[in-house]
Amino acid sequence: MTLSREIGLYIHVPFCRQRCHFCAFYLEIGRPERIAAFCSALRREIDLYCQQGLLAERTLQSIYFGGGTPTALPASQLVALLELIQTTWPPSTAVEVTVEAHPSTVTAKDLRILADAGINRISFGAESMDDKDFAPIGRPGNVRDTETAVAAARAASFTNINLDLMYGLPGQSLEAWTKTLQLLLMLDPSHVSCYALTIEEGTRLAQDIARDLALRPEDALQVDMESAAETLLSKAGFIRYEISNYAKPGAACRHNLLYWTDHDYLGLGPSAQSYVDGVRFGNIADLTAYVDMLDKHRLPVAERIILSASERQRDALVFGLRLLRGVPLNNVDGPEQRHRVNDLVTKGLLESDADRVRLTSLGQRYADTVAGELF
Ligand code: SF4
Repeated sequence: MTLSREIGLYIHVPFCRQRCHFCAFYLEIGRPERIAAFCSALRREIDLYCQQGLLAERTLQSIYFGGGTPTALPASQLVALLELIQTTWPPSTAVEVTVEAHPSTVTAKDLRILADAGINRISFGAESMDDKDFAPIGRPGNVRDTETAVAAARAASFTNINLDLMYGLPGQSLEAWTKTLQLLLMLDPSHVSCYALTIEEGTRLAQDIARDLALRPEDALQVDMESAAETLLSKAGFIRYEISNYAKPGAACRHNLLYWTDHDYLGLGPSAQSYVDGVRFGNIADLTAYVDMLDKHRLPVAERIILSASERQRDALVFGLRLLRGVPLNNVDGPEQRHRVNDLVTKGLLESDADRVRLTSLGQRYADTVAGELF
């Protein structure tokens, strides 16, 4: 088996100012002593992996601070962590370094510090461009914060700016969503991610819907909203390269492309997931336990699955199909998988030509079903 020498690094920063009602990510409300404990433990995790030589002879193609809200950490702390990472594992000269940020958690000064330290991609969770949408989902801040943060990022010399949006928010109409897209385009981002709101069990929003305090998103409306996004963003020069992701030419997220093109990635921080040398492993989703394990010089890994060659090949197919260009036909391996693919072609969920197989428009809507049928 030929192992890719390229690798991505993901750092899960598990803090937010408050929990949005729809959010099921592992996180806690940021407090200075917990943030300090996290940063110390993260340094130990980097050191342990360095001692093990796990990334020896690998080249970091991307470093991605996600969460949570990475900018819950002071900018100077983020920069110190980045410097440690780059000293430990020298990156490619073209490394993409992304920081996710909630627009109301960064100042112009923070953004200048981040840009000066070599962070070259900033991803803001805008979610909507209509203040009315925020209260039902418990998302703090307002549209003005997003506009201010984008202007400050540009002034700090960021040119690669992503804005995340969600559609199908409680009470959101197709007209309101279209207006959100139009207002977002006026901010001139280089990348836009559009995610359909999904109701995760155990969230405050799921409880609100169960008690008739919030409206459940309608499937048919979300389909129309997805089409509206594709139409408007395509007209504005964006290329839809993945089910939920649109980029100006050359601005596709290189970190996420590693996930979808069967490359390795190492995740650091509580709940972070990794895929290295055919092994999937995940960190414990508990900050206290994460800190304790690292205090004892143990890696905070809670689960580890060694994939067989056929499981790796199947995963590469499932993830690769999220890309709208699809995957090479010769990635479809063996008679059983070919039969499953042909079945999905007959159902109108996949299409293939001489070289590649890809999702149809219908398949893009039911990508999880397609993935399930390929297993
Ligand atoms: S800001 Fe993002 S990560 Fe934090 S609670 Fe809201 S959705 Fe979740």
